[in-house]
Amino acid sequence: MSVSSEAATYEPDVLGPRRVLVVDDEESVVTTMQAILEMDGYDVDISTNGREALRRLEEKEYDLVLTDLRLPDLTGTDILAEVRKRWPDSVTVLLTGFASLESAVLALREGAYDYLVKPCAVEELRATVRRGLERRALTLALRLRMTELEEANRTIAELNADLQRRVEAATAELQKNVEQLKELDRLKSQFMSIASHELKTPITAMSGFLQISVRRMRRRIERGRPAEDEWKREETATIEQLEVVQRQTEKLARLIDELLDVSRIQSGRLEFRLIPVDLGVLAREVAERMQLTTTKHRLRVRVNGGDLTVSGDRDHIEQVLNNLLSNAIKYSPDGGTVDVGVRVEEEGVHVAVRDSGIGIAKEELASIFGLFYRSPDRRARDVGGMGVGLYISREIVERHGGRIWASSPDRRGAEIHVLLPRGGAG
Ligand code: ADP
Repeated sequence: MSVSSEAATYEPDVLGPRRVLVVDDEESVVTTMQAILEMDGYDVDISTNGREALRRLEEKEYDLVLTDLRLPDLTGTDILAEVRKRWPDSVTVLLTGFASLESAVLALREGAYDYLVKPCAVEELRATVRRGLERRALTLALRLRMTELEEANRTIAELNADLQRRVEAATAELQKNVEQLKELDRLKSQFMSIASHELKTPITAMSGFLQISVRRMRRRIERGRPAEDEWKREETATIEQLEVVQRQTEKLARLIDELLDVSRIQSGRLEFRLIPVDLGVLAREVAERMQLTTTKHRLRVRVNGGDLTVSGDRDHIEQVLNNLLSNAIKYSPDGGTVDVGVRVEEEGVHVAVRDSGIGIAKEELASIFGLFYRSPDRRARDVGGMGVGLYISREIVERHGGRIWASSPDRRGAEIHVLLPRGGAG
């Protein structure tokens, strides 16, 4: 049902008049048919022999070809074959006398649309031609629909594939985020336990020493004033204990400062004041101060000519050097040499701190700059730390437009590199 309504919408005037070719050896038959069909608005050509018909078929496509089965030079099936070959969408109708009905049936089998028995009534001719043309219109409309559908199908398939790709990419991204969040979560809980332990240790020491001092002073009051010698000994011991307390207070303050730094970095409140800083001079200063904290290690600074000045925040760069040198000492528990090399490079000034300690595993070289990162290595774990020093250092260096990285050739000690551009922070 829907098919025939489709054909009804296929208006001839939209496509121009339909072209019909009438082929018959009788002049009167073709002219009569031409007149009748032209009155229905068709564009009609006629031929009275096969060869002429073939020539016309070479020139243009007809919507419908009406052909006699018997022609003087060719047969109607020759015409049919030519039409099928050249214009497969054209509709063919056979004109036949009673005597050749059988051949008409044969021709129908070969693809002719219909046949008319001569002489045929006007209405029958008009109806057959109209039906034939409707059939052609239907075929063409269906073909168009098919192409549209195929095109739509292709588009849908492409969209589908695209969607699939996007879903896969988004899923992978999500998976990565989840993994990162999980890792961060793990590091955070690990940090909580490490940080509380780190903060608790100096407090425990301080509280112990203070208790002992208080008890000793109380006992002294009870016993009364001592002799001069005794008094000196007691005071010296007290001073020693108070000095321990003082050192622990400083350590505590440093830990809290680091935590404050992390919080400043995370909230974007870390501020820099840029001045010219000579990295050679600064490295010597820091190394000299650090040397006072150890007797097992020998700190050496080698400066390689040239102007070692960068524009930077002195205190923060000093903090980076402090951190690198104290790590070099911390992570070489058996002592040894710590070499600090400062040299000019094309990109800026390069500082390298090399120790001969426990070294860093290859797969950890990049992670150690992450927040709260602590190595799973037992020898590193034995040394205290909250895993924030290198994170802060990286932030400071990168905010100066520089780079920081680690190497550990054959794990014979570690080397941390800092490259600061002369220009400083942007
Ligand atoms: P912390 O030393 O407080 O743990 P850092 O951020 O300074 O934190 O260092 C992160 C980790 O990098 C350390 O836990 C340690 O495993 C590793 N690391 C840093 N410096 C060295 C070094 N010089 N030699 C070996 N390992 C190091």
